Amino acid sequence: MDALDKLRTVSEHMSLEPAEEFQAPASRAFDQRGTCGHSPRELRRLADEYAPYTAPALSDDKKRALGVSYAAMPGGKRIALLKKLLTSACERNCFYCPFRAGRDFRRVTFKPDEMAQAFLNLHRAQVVEGLFLSSGIINGGARMQDKLIAVAEVLRFKLGFKGYIHLKIMPGAERAQVERAMQLADRLSINLEAPNAQRLTALAPLKAFYEELVQPLRWVEEIRRTQPADRSWNGRWPSTTTQFVVGAADESDLELLSTTEALHKQVRLARAYFSAFHPVPDTPLENQPAENPWREFRLYQSSFLLRDYGFTLEELPFNSSGNLPLEIDPKAAWAQRHLVESPVEINRADRQALLRVPGIGPKSADAIVSARRAGKLSTLRDLKRLGINIERAAPYILLDGRRQATHHQLARQLTLW
Ligand code: SF4
Repeated sequence: MDALDKLRTVSEHMSLEPAEEFQAPASRAFDQRGTCGHSPRELRRLADEYAPYTAPALSDDKKRALGVSYAAMPGGKRIALLKKLLTSACERNCFYCPFRAGRDFRRVTFKPDEMAQAFLNLHRAQVVEGLFLSSGIINGGARMQDKLIAVAEVLRFKLGFKGYIHLKIMPGAERAQVERAMQLADRLSINLEAPNAQRLTALAPLKAFYEELVQPLRWVEEIRRTQPADRSWNGRWPSTTTQFVVGAADESDLELLSTTEALHKQVRLARAYFSAFHPVPDTPLENQPAENPWREFRLYQSSFLLRDYGFTLEELPFNSSGNLPLEIDPKAAWAQRHLVESPVEINRADRQALLRVPGIGPKSADAIVSARRAGKLSTLRDLKRLGINIERAAPYILLDGRRQATHHQLARQLTLW
């Protein structure tokens, strides 16, 4: 089998890996409309205030077959990323995973040189710009980590590749390996899969939550804080991400978001990915129902409220079971409770207060603050020109002391989400 055949073969089961993009399960449920009349897919396109989302937009079937996806870089630039496993064989038995030990399908393994060269050929052919490299585990996580590092070393030092590399840190990797990966990559990811040790046991009994998954995230942050970044390949330490499987371990949204928030604060996690569970045939969870994709969407919205909008966990609209409502945007739910009676005066509010208004995101809040220096904002048309979603914002704002929505409009707004 040549390298291209291997790339195609290993792509067939890689949908569980989120890379950088907002993970969209290949499910029709993502196109089903909610009570608001929108589908999660449409909302993702419409929700400009949640700008970190990027939709997978594969340009053609050949790229898709090779495992190419489009990914958002910090700063918003999108690049074509080759998303690959070094081996699709694995000795572990995570209950949700298509690569788990004992599943009967054709496994593929690359040598580090072979993977590096295959990637570089695609890069030279202008098919891909960056590499996202993960792997199953054979002979322990540390041994596999060495091989992932070897791919990056060949690319950086033998083949002179100066583009984007995202490396997975394997469960069981050692501190020195994490440090070496940091010197070579632009981003590292360590998938927690579950929000705590107890939930992880229900998903991946051979993974040790603190020792194998949380500890490497701590090492990364410790190294970023104590060592100069000029020890990395480009003078910048990599960012870190993680992923959770959502809906397979009976975990609540509160558990997921509490862990996410702690990681943002304690180890400067760049972002968490939420991957709605989908049963895989011939796994212990094959009869468990797929998770509703709306839940994944609400978790993303909430994680951005925590990370970028100044919200706290206590302000999110959890129910008594610790879950978010699926039928309403969490920011709109907060605004209904707090801003209907106390609308935000657009001409005086500080940036943090502006960010509380549905329809106003970080970019549009900055645009308002900047436009106010030139004069008062008096009409909804002024706000529309600044890129604000006025239909969402109107019920919660004052412009020069005047309300912008009638009760009729407010009632309509409340059914919009
Ligand atoms: S370690 Fe678990 S999640 Fe990773 S490839 Fe192996 S079985 Fe899948």
